[in-house]
This record gives sequence, C-alpha cells and structure tokens, in this order.
Amino acid sequence: MNFKVAVIAGDGIGPEITREAQKVLDRVSEKFGHTFTYTDVLMGGASIDVHAVPLTEEAIAAARASDAVLMGSIGGNTSTSPWYKLPPNLRPEAGLLALRKALNLFANLRPAYLYEELKAACPLRDEIIGDGFDMMIMRELTGGLYFGERRTVEENGVLKAIDTLTYDENEIRRIAVRGFDIAMKRRKKVTSVDKANVLDSSRLWRKVVEEVARDYPEVTYEHMLVDNCAMQLVKDPKQFDVILTENMFGDILSDEASMVTGSIGMLSSASLNDTKFGLYEPSHGSAPDIAGQDIANPIATILSAAMMLRFSFDLDQEADAVEAAVKQVLKDGYRTVDIMSEGKTLVGTSRMGDLIVERI
Ligand code: NAD
Repeated sequence: MNFKVAVIAGDGIGPEITREAQKVLDRVSEKFGHTFTYTDVLMGGASIDVHAVPLTEEAIAAARASDAVLMGSIGGNTSTSPWYKLPPNLRPEAGLLALRKALNLFANLRPAYLYEELKAACPLRDEIIGDGFDMMIMRELTGGLYFGERRTVEENGVLKAIDTLTYDENEIRRIAVRGFDIAMKRRKKVTSVDKANVLDSSRLWRKVVEEVARDYPEVTYEHMLVDNCAMQLVKDPKQFDVILTENMFGDILSDEASMVTGSIGMLSSASLNDTKFGLYEPSHGSAPDIAGQDIANPIATILSAAMMLRFSFDLDQEADAVEAAVKQVLKDGYRTVDIMSEGKTLVGTSRMGDLIVERI
C-alpha cells in the first residue's frame, strides 16, 4: 500500500531522531511491500528562521494532504534562544498548538510502559514495580484551559491574569469514546480523572463519561480525583490501564507517568482526530542540550512511527515487528546514553537506528 507521510523534523535533536524513524519505515516498506512517500514540513524554530512564523498555511496544507504526520520535536533552549524573545504567538510551541487545532487533533495517546530490560531506570521500589506496568494516558488536547479565553488586565494599579477552562459535552464525549475504544483493545479498564469536587467542567466531564460508559459494558471504569491520581501513579502504577483526562491534567499526569518509567527517550505519542489521520511524535522535547551530538535516543520516535503504522495505516503486523525489534535490541544489551547501565553496550543515535532496522 502507498502512504503519504508529512515529516516535521523540527528543532534540536528533532532531525536526528526523525531520520532514524524514517530508516525504520523504509525497512518496513522493503520487508512488507509498502511505499511511504515523505514530504518535509517546517514548523517551530525551523519555520521561524525561514518564514518568521512558527507555522505557515502552506505547512498546514501539506500536513492535511498527507495520511499522517511524523514529527521530531520543536523548540529551543527557552532561556537563551532568540525564539523566546518573540511574542508568545510567534514562538515555536505556538506552531504546534496551531497545528493541533487546525487538524482537529483532540485525542492524545501516551503509553507509559516499563520495559523488563529497563527496570533499573525506574525510580520506584521493586515491590511497587512488581512485573512492570503498561498504561495509556488518553488526554484531551484541543480544549480546556490551554485554549480558553485569557487576558491580563490592570485593575486599580494591580495586575490580574485570567484564564478560562471550558468544555462542552461534545468535546468530552468524543474523547471519552476514544478512551473506551482503546480500552477495549487493552485490559478493558478506564480511570477517568477529574477534579469534580471543585470544578464544574469536571462535573460535566464525569456525567458524560458515565453516559459513554453505558455503551461499553465490558469495560470497568472508575472516577479518580486528579490529586489522588498523581499519588497513585507513584504508589501503585500497575492499577492503571487507560487514564482518560482533560488537557491540563493530562499534560501533568503524562509527564509524571513517563518519569516513573525512568526513560523519557523511550516514550512515544499519538494525536488523533476523528478520522484515521494522526500526528506522531516522541513524548520528550527537542533536547537542545544534546542536539547535533549523535547521542539522543531515537526509540521514542521509532515507537511513534510504530503507532502511526497501527493507528493511521492499520498495519498491526508491521507495528508489532517494529516494537519487537526495539525489545530485541534492548535484550541484546544496546543502550543510548540516557538508558545506559553497567555491562551494556553504549551506542549513538544513528547506530541505534541501524540496530533496530537489522532486527525487523
Ligand atoms: P526535553 O524533553 O527536551 O529535555 C529534558 C531532558 O531530557 C534533557 O536533559 C534532554 O537532554 C533529555 N532528553 C530528552 N529527550 C531525549 C532523548 N531522546 N534522548 C536522550 N535524552 C533526552 O525537555 P526541555 O529541556 O524541558 O525542553 C526543551 C525544548 O523542547 C523546549 O523548547 C520545549 O518547549 C520543547 N518541547 C517540545 C515538545 C514538543 O515538540 N512536543 C515537547 C516538550 C518540550
């Protein structure tokens, strides 16, 4: 089959890690007889340098014309990069927010999976880790506090900042449906996270999730307050299968979940709309501190490409092959510097990509 992939290499380590993911896709195309056609798209700092804006209409159109987007990461050093002297709407991250909105990417999936071989990197105690954990955070991505009306005003000489958190029932329903659908393909458990003891938006969230849950009698579901969830993630992460939550809670909890795996360089993500289209990127940022040194871990981006094969292209067997190759490379003892431990073989970005390719 033929697939069109828009590639946003981005900034920092972005170009290095997307290159490795493309190598892996090329190996998949060779082995399974597909064709991936790539279109390079500028976004973030790379776009600011050329077009003076973090995302152009042409870039959005190129992304729209493809079947999926593979992305590295955008942004620079937020203290030193000249990009952060620009007004907020012209900074690198504004490009990503605008793209998510333009492509209606409302469902963000972030798996947090503890690899047997990387247990040593997990900061939790052995008795908490047990046989490891495997959860999927399903975060609403285009509503809530990050997209609400905001302003800063001065009242009687005092500065006042206002952010608004809004959700309508349709926005909640579509993400809840996605969450329960994913749970059906996994261990059939949904933990819906909110702050219903305080927020109206959370009370509506809870009501709509309960309505959606009625259509999924096989899925066990529970509600959990966000503060409790933050604690449970470090106390007993094994209890979670799918965590379903709104934008800001998901932002924070997914970072926490990724840290308990101990290896940010391993964690993939997908942002989906209500068709098969999706944007696939690692959970980490552009790591400007290590850019250009061939030491970044490309696995999160490679696993994001595997998610693309599974969710946008329905190529489950091919996605399984990529994920199995990643497991094998870890079993064979190869590590990038971020996941290195005693007795293992240290490799760079490009070599890690090659080793994974060899195992597909
Ligand atoms: P970061 O994730 O880029 O880096 C945090 C730490 O993890 C750094 O020490 C970095 O070297 C390390 N790290 C990250 N990815 C790694 C990898 N693949 N291999 C090895 N080590 C890795 O977070 P940050 O430093 O807070 O942000 C840097 C820039 O990235 C900022 O401009 C930020 O806005 C941007 N950012 C972009 C996205 C995105 O594009 N979706 C997400 C988060 C942060």
